[in-house]
Amino acid sequence: MQKGKIDVKTENIFPIIKKFLYSDHEIFLRELVSNAIDATQKLKTLASVGDFKGELGDRTVRVSHDKKKKTLTVSDRGIGMTADEIKKYINQIAFSSAEDFLEKYKDKVDAIIGHFGLGFYSSFMVADKVEIYTKSYREDSQAIKWSCDGSPRYTLEDIEKDDVGTEVVLHISDDSKEFLEENRIYELLKKYCKFLPVPIAFGMEKEWKDGKEVKTGKLRIINNTEPAWTKKPADLIEEDYDRFYQELYPMNEKPLFHIHLNVDYPFNLTGILYFPKLKSNVEIQKNKIQLYSNQVFVTDSVEGVVPEFLTLLHGVLDSPDIPLNVSRSYLQSDANVKKISSHITKKVSDRLMDNFKKDREEFEKKWDDLKIFIQYGMISDEKFYEKAEKFALLKNSDNKYFTFVEYEKFIKENQTDKNKNLIYLYTTNTEKQYSFIETAKSRGFDVLVMDGQLDIHFINHLETKFNDSRFVRVDSDVIDKLILKEEKSESKLPAHQQNDLSVIFRSVLPEKPVFSVSCEGMNETDNPVTITQSEFMRRMKDMSEMGGGMGFYGDMPDSYNLVVNTNHPLIIKLAEEKDNVAGKELEKFNEKITPVKTSKEELEKANREKKDEEIPQEEKDRLSDLDKKLSDLEGKKETVLKKVASDNKLVKQLIDLALLSNNMLKGEDLSRFVKRSIDLM
Ligand code: ADP
Repeated sequence: MQKGKIDVKTENIFPIIKKFLYSDHEIFLRELVSNAIDATQKLKTLASVGDFKGELGDRTVRVSHDKKKKTLTVSDRGIGMTADEIKKYINQIAFSSAEDFLEKYKDKVDAIIGHFGLGFYSSFMVADKVEIYTKSYREDSQAIKWSCDGSPRYTLEDIEKDDVGTEVVLHISDDSKEFLEENRIYELLKKYCKFLPVPIAFGMEKEWKDGKEVKTGKLRIINNTEPAWTKKPADLIEEDYDRFYQELYPMNEKPLFHIHLNVDYPFNLTGILYFPKLKSNVEIQKNKIQLYSNQVFVTDSVEGVVPEFLTLLHGVLDSPDIPLNVSRSYLQSDANVKKISSHITKKVSDRLMDNFKKDREEFEKKWDDLKIFIQYGMISDEKFYEKAEKFALLKNSDNKYFTFVEYEKFIKENQTDKNKNLIYLYTTNTEKQYSFIETAKSRGFDVLVMDGQLDIHFINHLETKFNDSRFVRVDSDVIDKLILKEEKSESKLPAHQQNDLSVIFRSVLPEKPVFSVSCEGMNETDNPVTITQSEFMRRMKDMSEMGGGMGFYGDMPDSYNLVVNTNHPLIIKLAEEKDNVAGKELEKFNEKITPVKTSKEELEKANREKKDEEIPQEEKDRLSDLDKKLSDLEGKKETVLKKVASDNKLVKQLIDLALLSNNMLKGEDLSRFVKRSIDLM
């Protein structure tokens, strides 16, 4: 038996391995199985060129455990190692580079993701002692056993071994007992080794018999050695892609479509990305793409490798060119990774463009599901926007789809306002804003449906892109003001009537939310009373609710406008009723108010140019006297109008109807409305 010392510079590298180098102890299994696979593939290569003369036969890699002996074993029938090779590959571990690595990152141990660091030696994270039994494929090789207890000292001895290949036995340490549990091992194999290219067996296939789980005597193979992404697109049909998706995400619905990536220059990248079908708008999940390196699972957090918006996609990427043993910030600045990322963006947009061109109808059918990915991409990635603006769609309230260019043409004539701005009308809820949509359509306007999760942000983004254009929600103003045109319809009621009506309506409105009242001479056929919410305020509130950093607006109370249509017969009737019951009284007030107002205005006009100290005191006194008189008179007049309002069922009824069509009439108010409606009939 030989004894020796592993060639490391520090005595205590093992505690370092254990504590720091790997954030996830579990990856030791991935390292050992990958080594076994590599050795097996090397042997196959040697056989194919005639350098290995033996029978290839079954080369399944086996993983087994023994709870009593506390061992976990990985064995292969690969090339094996000679004593010299053990000395060369195992004893002189690349610890010099590991030390460099630690030196470099010693201040930010957390930043180290231990992916692919020390290979074989990662087994000391979970084992007190490791043994290697191996026999090289070379003719007349002596089988040997290497053993090491975690100190830099090892032993090497000759043994009897029939088969070519290597068996690595880990004596699992007490603090890593979890790795002796069948389920835990199985789970790890499924996570890291699911797509490795050589069959891996762990335990026996089980089946249910008479209500019990029994072993079948067949080896349980845990991997698919030929996952779809490793094949040529030409050799696959649609079902193969769907099946592979099922294998990756057994619980998910069929995806919308896939993109098969296959690049070998200037970097190596294969993979399949899927656009998933999201069950509901809310369920956006990131970190579903799995990253592989030569079919070995590395991670499922792909930020930095894939552009942010594509992290919403599903699927796999496989690249040996992505540096894996580095921190995330390093990864993001890596030139290769950047190239990969922009390549993926290009591929995805090309594919979408293709689908759009080839089968527009099909593309439209998928649009509602696709939209969120494309919008996210367009908002967050300028390059993607440039491509996507040609195939991104807008949907209107008649479920018709348009490209940006098509839609602009479609609405240009009707929806350009007097300032030459193109107004895009939209709704966020076709049910709730139904009457507004109908009114807009009756004027020949078109209304877009923007009810998606990202639509508010998307609208903001489009406004920065479209020239001389604005998006206006269909209920943000009365129809005549949504798109301001030159000709403005006149009000049939004079100013003093409008003032009276404003007071009447204001006095009956609830205190919350806050309403401001205005009168507009609209079409006779438009609603008598309409409730709107300003586009600006509402959008700011929406953004702040979505965490857009507009806290101030989020705290503002909801405020609405109540617009009275002074050309509607009912409003004209209301003005008449008011005059019938209180016309004379109001007239008296008006007679008194008018001269006071005139004197006040004259006085103000005379003093307008003067500074405060130049105005004689007596004039100041007179002015404040007039002010008092005026507000006194107006207050009294208001009392009269309030009385008119409270006696008049029509006012309350009209307001309630407007509230009702905005879904704002609830509870007690609603039941009072119903009662009043019955009384009125
Ligand atoms: P890496 O696999 O990254 O080279 P390891 O420390 O895991 O680093 O392995 C070092 C070397 O030991 C491998 O390159 C290989 O030559 C040899 N080796 C490890 N495991 C096996 C095995 N199961 N069969 C044959 N050779 C092996």
